[in-house]
Amino acid sequence: MRHATVMDAVSQASSIKLNNRVYDMRANGVDIIRLSLGEAFFSLPVPSFDEFPADEIHHYSHSRGLPLLRDKLAHYYQGFSGTTVDPQREILVTAGSKMAVFMTLTAVLDPGDEVIIPEPLWVSYPAQVQLAGGTPVPVPWYVSAADLGAYVTPRTRAVVLNNPQNPSGRRLGAGELRTLHELADRHGLVVIADEAYHEFVPAGKRFVSAFEHDPEKRHTVVCNSMSKNYGISGWRIGYLIGQAGILTQIIKLQQHLVTCAPSILSYYLARHFESVLDITRPQIQRVVETRNRLAHLLARRGVSCLPGDSTFYLFASLGDSRLSSEEFAERLLAQHHVAVVPGTGYGASCGRYVRVSVGTESDERLLRGVSAMAALVEET
Ligand code: PLP
Repeated sequence: MRHATVMDAVSQASSIKLNNRVYDMRANGVDIIRLSLGEAFFSLPVPSFDEFPADEIHHYSHSRGLPLLRDKLAHYYQGFSGTTVDPQREILVTAGSKMAVFMTLTAVLDPGDEVIIPEPLWVSYPAQVQLAGGTPVPVPWYVSAADLGAYVTPRTRAVVLNNPQNPSGRRLGAGELRTLHELADRHGLVVIADEAYHEFVPAGKRFVSAFEHDPEKRHTVVCNSMSKNYGISGWRIGYLIGQAGILTQIIKLQQHLVTCAPSILSYYLARHFESVLDITRPQIQRVVETRNRLAHLLARRGVSCLPGDSTFYLFASLGDSRLSSEEFAERLLAQHHVAVVPGTGYGASCGRYVRVSVGTESDERLLRGVSAMAALVEET
């Protein structure tokens, strides 16, 4: 069968590919310490749908999202960001933030348009840019926001940023975001801000929304999700906030690609919005504390991480190890049954790092996994 050449340019998502292997090993009875999953497991009740009329929940719903869920999301976003969101015109409920980012890219890119992606980048951004017909322009992680202008060409159309950042846990400060918006203003760029981890910020620290410096939503689209922030990644519910004009374009993609976000789960979430968050918020704080405790522990063992204090990820340096990040992850999995994700998928400047997720294992297993990792860095 002939296949489209664009698919040759796109590789599998490195983290998902690795985790599929881990699922297979576990199915064969191997006990793997999973520091590789892109989510945090929370203790949440199994939802009951008895309260909903069957003739509603089994069917398609409004392609923009259930009105009650849009109201709740608009109110919620406004609550932590201070940004006013019109639930009728400025929000779209999506099948996760992955779809939100992809639909936004597809709506704004013409063939060959360039998209600046600061590293460490989330593994799906370059592939999504290519699938949307554009050209990804990754920027090494050590380049500051102030120097991003050097990567702008007449073809540059957008910047995709992830805040807080998977895999480093870095939060962008207000100053950096202002610099980015000034760049966007100067060159007519769209800022696509993926805020899928905004709840995973240490108590007392501030998350700065990408709308803070663009309250009229002139050039910013925010993609966000309940997957991580509510601990319900399998529900596939996310949302997108932007100006009514761009949403009118994006909603066409939603209608042609997925019709609507999952209806049954949207009904449940709309009705239980606050209570789900009440259950997950304290658990989120514990995960963030664990992340920061493990970063200190690794530092004491001679393993440094890229600076960050948020999310549930650490991006750990392999220091003087002679192994590549792929070889390191392979050896750690085969010999110690500990899964981490090689850094190469996060950009060319990240080949000396591995991503460690602290969201899914007990404290005791996390310590064992992280100790095995530190020992392997030292040994190799
Ligand atoms: N954005 C980032 C930065 C992520 O790390 C992930 C998942 O790993 C996603 C988006 C996808 O999330 P969703 O489940 O909302 O599609």
